[in-house]
Amino acid sequence: MPSSLPQRVDVAVIGGGIIGISTAWALAKAGVRVAVFEKGVIAGEQSSRNWGWIRTVGRDHKELPLALHAIDLWQEIQAQRDVGYRQTGLAYLAENEHDMAGHRAWLDKARPLGVPAELIPRDGLRALLASATTRPWAGALYSRIDGVAEPDRATRAIADLAVQAGAQVFENTAARCLDTKAGRAAGVVTERGVVAAGAVVLAGGAWSRLFCGNVGVEFPQLKVHASVLRTAPLETGLDMAVNGKDFTVRKRADGGYSVSQLGASVADLTPDSIRLCRQFLAAWMSEKKYLKLRLGRRFFDELMMPVRFGPDAPTPFERHRILDPAPRMKTIGTALDKLKQAFPAFASAQIAHAWAGFIDVTPDAIPVMSPVDGLAGFFLASGFSGHGFGIGPAAGVLMADLVQGRTPVVDPHHFRLSRYFGG
Ligand SMILES: Cc1cc2nc3c(=O)[nH]c(=O)nc-3n(C[C@H](O)[C@H](O)[C@H](O)COP(=O)(O)OP(=O)(O)OC[C@H]3O[C@@H](n4cnc5c(N)ncnc54)[C@H](O)[C@@H]3O)c2cc1C
Repeated sequence: MPSSLPQRVDVAVIGGGIIGISTAWALAKAGVRVAVFEKGVIAGEQSSRNWGWIRTVGRDHKELPLALHAIDLWQEIQAQRDVGYRQTGLAYLAENEHDMAGHRAWLDKARPLGVPAELIPRDGLRALLASATTRPWAGALYSRIDGVAEPDRATRAIADLAVQAGAQVFENTAARCLDTKAGRAAGVVTERGVVAAGAVVLAGGAWSRLFCGNVGVEFPQLKVHASVLRTAPLETGLDMAVNGKDFTVRKRADGGYSVSQLGASVADLTPDSIRLCRQFLAAWMSEKKYLKLRLGRRFFDELMMPVRFGPDAPTPFERHRILDPAPRMKTIGTALDKLKQAFPAFASAQIAHAWAGFIDVTPDAIPVMSPVDGLAGFFLASGFSGHGFGIGPAAGVLMADLVQGRTPVVDPHHFRLSRYFGG
């Protein structure tokens, strides 16, 4: 890390998760002077805590062009740094014909976009999984081009590539607020001084709503608590990533497995969930099978958190360097039990470690990657809603295109911030 901050850059990026770092990498490769400011450590929050799935399967169709482009980039990254990227294949198992019909409907819309996924019938599953399963699955939605990478290595490796291409990356450097001049973003006020910039990209993950609110920009975003465990290394024959609804599993580079379940998510009630209730109601209703609502300490913690702050005093970003919530052991323990029941080869699996993270979600569960109307020079890349790791490198390219005013790599229309306000 360089010791002193630059006085001026072309683009300042706030947030050293996979989105901010990939944006910096893409900009640096284009010869743009770019600096990243991270309040904690690179990938300290969501980007190192996720399942590590890089998937097209099950994605919102609006994200598929980006997901396909991301696969090329993961190959490019793996060729230069070992991030554990492998196209293992990925299967969404179906319990019954109703699930299969849902998978078929998804596939009908995905195939014309060039996604080579397929439906695997019941009797084709045994050969596909290469590990005996006791549950009478109805079949699966499968993609051979989907895979995994190691979240604890990936973003740091991309940061290395970004630095090699000329980017500057500053850890323990919170961005307190925007520096604005004549109604446009003119730089970033960090806890270590002001850095002037032609454009500012906010890739602050779960913190983006707070940062935006302070500069008068409304960004509808909430946080969902999600837990994961990893097992000690074991031999099971299962190499691909599998979603069985009440468990998810993927093989890790260390020989163990990351295990969780869709239902391991909790939406804590907070003052923001009340403020944003109307916008999130439809999402809550459609996810209510998987999402538990909880009233706890976070309501009061967030109630006490300042929502307006200036350049001269410590902000919540410095007070909370790394979000590190406790995992919900009961829920992920259940996921491991369900996995053991479905795949007897996991019978002796032992929990080696468990952790949790806050997923930043938007009302329509797709991200915002967009200029911010009314504040020229300010761009937002946030709200990846639990699936930003896989598309992260491509999201970086899209952001770099938007900032430079180049023809974007994919149509960015679906990702504009103004869609929440009738724009
Ligand atoms: C348990 C779990 C499982 C998941 N599984 C998957 C998966 O299998 N596949 C997938 O594709 N996605 C998955 N995701 C989602 C994925 O991890 C996220 O979408 C992605 O990492 C978001 O990256 P980000 O850079 O936007 O946010 P983050 O990684 O959260 O990074 C944001 C960074 O911004 C910094 N920051 C915020 N405000 C400031 C400030 N003012 N100044 C300086 N720095 C600031 C934060 O410290 C943080 O490091 C999962 C997430 C979780 C939590």
